Amino acid sequence: MLFSSDENKMRVKLWGVRGSLPSPQAPSTLEQRVKEVATLALEQGLKPGTIEFESWFNALPPHRKGGYGGNTPCVEVRTSKTRIIVDAGSGLRALGAELMQGPCGKGQGEVHLVFTHFHWDHLAGLPFFIPIFVPGNTIHLYGVQADLDSMVKMLFHKPYFPVEFDKIGAKVVVHSLEPREKVMFGDIQVTPYQLDHPDPCWGYRFEHEGKAYSHCVDTEAVRVSREDMGPDLPLYQNVELMVFDAQYTLMETIEKVHWGHAAASIGIDIALREGIRRVIFMHHDPAAGDERIYNVEQQTRRYYERMVKHMREAGEPVVDVEWSFAIEGMEIEV
Ligand SMILES: [Zn+2]
Ligand SMILES: [Zn+2]
Repeated sequence: MLFSSDENKMRVKLWGVRGSLPSPQAPSTLEQRVKEVATLALEQGLKPGTIEFESWFNALPPHRKGGYGGNTPCVEVRTSKTRIIVDAGSGLRALGAELMQGPCGKGQGEVHLVFTHFHWDHLAGLPFFIPIFVPGNTIHLYGVQADLDSMVKMLFHKPYFPVEFDKIGAKVVVHSLEPREKVMFGDIQVTPYQLDHPDPCWGYRFEHEGKAYSHCVDTEAVRVSREDMGPDLPLYQNVELMVFDAQYTLMETIEKVHWGHAAASIGIDIALREGIRRVIFMHHDPAAGDERIYNVEQQTRRYYERMVKHMREAGEPVVDVEWSFAIEGMEIEV
């Protein structure tokens, strides 16, 4: 993705976008995909390495090439001065490896990690986060929930993990955040707002230079009207980028009430009402293959177009929403 020259813009990078359980695609699926792409390219006389091949390949939908990704939630929010990690899903492992190239590799690193909640898919990467084992590093962990400290100690505990908490090397500092209270992390302001999940889960609003990113995963979005959202409404207002839960289709949300996840169409409704210009949908269902996720994305496209048409016909103001389903590794400038 190309960025403007303004180095101090806030950027959001998605290191893990799958929900519930790490879900790599089966080797047989990937083999089939490679065969199909090779066959198509040969049929069309495209030679790898040529501009024609590259533009043809780049235009293929995700399920025909790299897919959407199998790691569970981990999102990096950063400016040139500040870096905040949201959740420690399995995507955190690769981010940790990247951080080891900088001060964390020399035992001079300082890491800030905020938790939405403690379901396994948001924790599983922490014991594989290499900077936490390097003496001299300081790892700051933040959460609204009171049991953050005991949760972290439980993760580094035999027989679940071979390294006990008091032997992990880095200094770990646990901080509590107050619901709906702003906190400054360097040049990013962070405010937690409550989401709708079976165990308490907090979304975060990140603000930098007057622009806001809202992280809304995991949520069933039971409260949709402004009135029902109540004190958590600011999570959705005056926002440039929202990352939203789309584990299910709309039909599945009806079958899976209280499972704690939403459908993309709910996020589309909120974005159209609040004028959010950019939305990325993540927490893809671990049971869904890449092709199914692609088909749900197409269904959502039709839903979005229908909604925009209705609004235009009713004479309502419409802000075009640029949205897509998350692909692991995606990076967005806010
Ligand atoms: Zn989750
Ligand atoms: Zn959850």
